[in-house]
Amino acid sequence: MAPLRAGIVGAGIAGASCAGTLAAAGWDVDIFDKARGAGGRLSTRRLEPGWATLGTPFISAKRDPFRSQLRDWARQGWLAPVRGEVLHGRANKGWAHAQLQNHYLPLIEPSQIVRKLLGTAHLYTESRVSAVRPRTIILENGQVMGDYDCVVCSVPVPQAIPLLDALPRLSERLGDVRYRPIWSFLMRWEGGPEADIIRFDDHLIDLAVRQTAGGEGLWTVHSSHEFAETYLEASEMEASTRAASAVMGLLGLPWPVEVEASHLWRHAKPESTIGGFWLGDRENRVALIGDGIAGAGVERAWESGVRLAQALMLAEVELADCPAISALDAG
Ligand SMILES: Cc1cc2nc3c(=O)[nH]c(=O)nc-3n(C[C@H](O)[C@H](O)[C@H](O)COP(=O)(O)OP(=O)(O)OC[C@H]3O[C@@H](n4cnc5c(N)ncnc54)[C@H](O)[C@@H]3O)c2cc1C
Repeated sequence: MAPLRAGIVGAGIAGASCAGTLAAAGWDVDIFDKARGAGGRLSTRRLEPGWATLGTPFISAKRDPFRSQLRDWARQGWLAPVRGEVLHGRANKGWAHAQLQNHYLPLIEPSQIVRKLLGTAHLYTESRVSAVRPRTIILENGQVMGDYDCVVCSVPVPQAIPLLDALPRLSERLGDVRYRPIWSFLMRWEGGPEADIIRFDDHLIDLAVRQTAGGEGLWTVHSSHEFAETYLEASEMEASTRAASAVMGLLGLPWPVEVEASHLWRHAKPESTIGGFWLGDRENRVALIGDGIAGAGVERAWESGVRLAQALMLAEVELADCPAISALDAG
């Protein structure tokens, strides 16, 4: 019997975990991403030397199965637990040291971890999808990729809605999901606290994370949502100058601070979600996953992909002569 075929839009951690789980079970999986590589919000910026993260700075797990998945990745040398050096507060008002349980920092590029999750799935990069139809994925260049037993859309909800014109039963369920933005910056400065992570108690700046693979004094700084909403349409120059000035003020450090890169994540984190792990249209064999469906964060996104894959595999076994997704509506 020919293997079942899945087509997946979006090679972030949700799409990749779904793709890899299905591929490991013998499915023939195509996965398309508009970017130059896999990773999505876990993608990395290449530097001379090394790399740095502008997206998710660390990966954490609240429970199994993701907790044991992270331990496994740590055993493989991909991650290391965050230990001790976390500061909360403002330098001039005193710092509090804290422990972060079950939080890991990547030792290899997070995008490589996502890439490894794909297993034998076929990754098509720089392949922007313009529409999802029953059993079919249409690329922006007009190419029609089709006859899938299941199509999975794994992109942030505001980016999914325009792809789903032919699937009103799904798109109508998505209207209420909102995302909030974050500006991220790579900044280099001298001095300051010895910590690896600084959590600011501030309305403009949220977090700074030391980037050890990118050379001395390199930090990723994440703005607050409020900052990003205020500077949503600002130039990189304006946003980075405002952020650098705020960070130096908070740390009590003098300039110079060099801003080496900046990125506005318009869809950084969902503030509301659909609930459950995935949403499916069984007649049309299309399902949606990702953090906009399952809840904010890497853990929920990963689990949404794995859970959908498991449900598809179960449907395949239980309903051998029926379409794999026919047993599914939501899970
Ligand atoms: C700055 C920042 C900080 C964060 N901090 C944390 C944190 O501390 N802890 C935590 O748990 N989570 C954090 N998150 C959230 C976390 O990164 C996400 O919840 C998670 O990575 C979402 O994964 P995903 O697979 O659902 O989506 P994504 O990673 O967004 O993947 C979607 C993919 O779809 C692709 N795509 C979109 N449209 C198309 C199209 N039309 N055609 C083809 N491909 C398309 C994109 O290129 C992308 O690769 C943070 C996010 C950001 C941005």
